[in-house]
Amino acid sequence: MLSSILTGETCAACKNCCIFEEKSAWELPAFSVGAAARLADHPDYPMTEENGRYRITLPYDDTHAAQPCPFLDPDSGCTLPPEEKPFACSLWPVRVMRDPDTDVPRLALYQGCPGVPAEDHAALDALLDSGLRTRIFAEAETDPTLILPYHPNYKFL
Ligand code: SF4
Ligand code: SF4
Repeated sequence: MLSSILTGETCAACKNCCIFEEKSAWELPAFSVGAAARLADHPDYPMTEENGRYRITLPYDDTHAAQPCPFLDPDSGCTLPPEEKPFACSLWPVRVMRDPDTDVPRLALYQGCPGVPAEDHAALDALLDSGLRTRIFAEAETDPTLILPYHPNYKFL
């Protein structure tokens, strides 16, 4: 969805995504029914249903403080087919977060992505203004799991 401004080559070189420290496990997206079914026989990933999406728990322990998403291939990236990939993953490094002052959902940019620098996001703004912003908020209306609490690693757009 952001491929016009963030290339696969950039991400392949960076490899900073899809691995979640326990303190950032809240960032793991909620998965579709189809994706959850792929893990149905996998006891390491207990799931909680939420508005038709599935939140999984990663198997953290003392020796595994950071865990990859179960759908990440370290060489080729995300293994989910497009129809099962969470909408939130397609948006990354953009999130929908509640403004702590107003409680209103807003778009926010992760400040640690070298592919879309937070200090220079003109190309991203133009892409959002071309209709993507409207689409994201429409999706968030049907899937409230997209709306996350604010975190200071993000900058509101
Ligand atoms: S941090 Fe940004 S550039 Fe790096 S892998 Fe993630 S999305 Fe790609
Ligand atoms: S579903 Fe794919 S893109 Fe999303 S966190 Fe997992 S591996 Fe990454």
